[in-house]
Amino acid sequence: MLRKGLATEVRWFALYFAAMVFVGFSFGYWREAAILALALYVGWTFRNLSKLERWVHSARNGDIQENTLFGLLGEITEDIRLLNHRYEKDKQRLQSIVSRVQDMTSALNDGVILADRRSNIEWWNRAAKHMLALRQVDFGHRITNILRDPRFQAYFDEEDYGEPLDIESYRNEGQQLQFQIHPFGQGERLIIVRDVTRVAKLEQMRRDFVANVSHELRTPLTVVRGYVETLLDMPELQPTLKRALEQMQQQGQRMTALVNDLIMLTKLETDDRSAHQEPVNIHQLVSLIINDARAIGDEQHNFTNAVEDGLALRGNEKELRSAISNLVINAVKYSPEGCHIEVSSTVDSGMFALHVKDDGVGIDPIHIPRLTERFYRVDGGRSSTAGGTGLGLAIVKHVLIRHDAILKIASKPGRGSTFSCCFPNQRLVHNAQSA
Ligand code: ADP
Repeated sequence: MLRKGLATEVRWFALYFAAMVFVGFSFGYWREAAILALALYVGWTFRNLSKLERWVHSARNGDIQENTLFGLLGEITEDIRLLNHRYEKDKQRLQSIVSRVQDMTSALNDGVILADRRSNIEWWNRAAKHMLALRQVDFGHRITNILRDPRFQAYFDEEDYGEPLDIESYRNEGQQLQFQIHPFGQGERLIIVRDVTRVAKLEQMRRDFVANVSHELRTPLTVVRGYVETLLDMPELQPTLKRALEQMQQQGQRMTALVNDLIMLTKLETDDRSAHQEPVNIHQLVSLIINDARAIGDEQHNFTNAVEDGLALRGNEKELRSAISNLVINAVKYSPEGCHIEVSSTVDSGMFALHVKDDGVGIDPIHIPRLTERFYRVDGGRSSTAGGTGLGLAIVKHVLIRHDAILKIASKPGRGSTFSCCFPNQRLVHNAQSA
């Protein structure tokens, strides 16, 4: 069936053509009349098409004029007018939703920034403007050109947004900002900025408190341990008193280890991480650690140092020594006599890994994700007999974070464990001089 516009057009054309031919026929020129009728129709159609084009052009510029066409072109014009009307209504509705969402986010205390797929700033709310001192001219610019902190730039480009990024504000001294990026749509990103100054201050207070208490405990502990040792050296001690003093000495040693680990952890949390970047020869370091382990009386385990010689890691020697020592000492503590402990290295694409492997008691997989938490122990009884503080792996984790590295743990109960420290290859220095 013909649509209304086309049907009207056909009807009018048939009527007009028949009338023209009839008039021509009356004068004996029906052929000429038919040709003239067709020529006039084509001319009239072209004129209407040109009118339609002008109408569409002005409609595109927002000026919807009266529809003066009829027939097929008239109907097309009317359809376009209706579509345009519907589009305007939808646009207004969407605009009101967008401005409502913008009003809502403007009321937030958290900063919100929208970055398009080319990382250019598309929009921000009032809080973001205030916190980051954003100006009107910053619209449309690449966000990393506006927020120039290298840590933010690395975080933004890394595209691993599992953890938020905490940095000090460049605008207000002492203000601590937390950035969290949420990708959405097709490559767009939503950046949430929070003022975490209060939380950071509380965290700092907690660290200071732990550091102060640990320092304050050190001196009385040294005095108590000194007296216990002097008393233990006394001749002819009663056996019960001797046993009590020996236990006091043992617990004193544990407390000293605990205090030392707490001080170490606080230092790791507060020190400037980029301060130390000297190349550390890993093979030599592992040899020293193994010698230390043997020197403190561990002749029951077989150690192998299979770390490739001539490799060095850019980092802090003291911290790396502490982390690797903790892993080797754990391997000793949690594997029975006669077991084999091997420290080896692998260089893979983009990663240098140092593995500490033992064939000891192993760990149930359910514990692995929590092992690096402070004071987390798989088996409290066994750990305390082994003399652990529960802070060793927390120290390892912090040292590794400060060296852009991660700890991977592979273990099976009864089949031993492998602790791998994975460093980015950029930290690796080849052909390190052996001393
Ligand atoms: P701890 O001082 O108690 O050893 P750590 O933080 O060093 O504390 O280790 C946490 C827990 O992880 C330990 O209590 C122990 O149960 C487990 N663990 C660590 N290393 C090993 C290992 N090589 N083999 C088996 N269990 C281990």
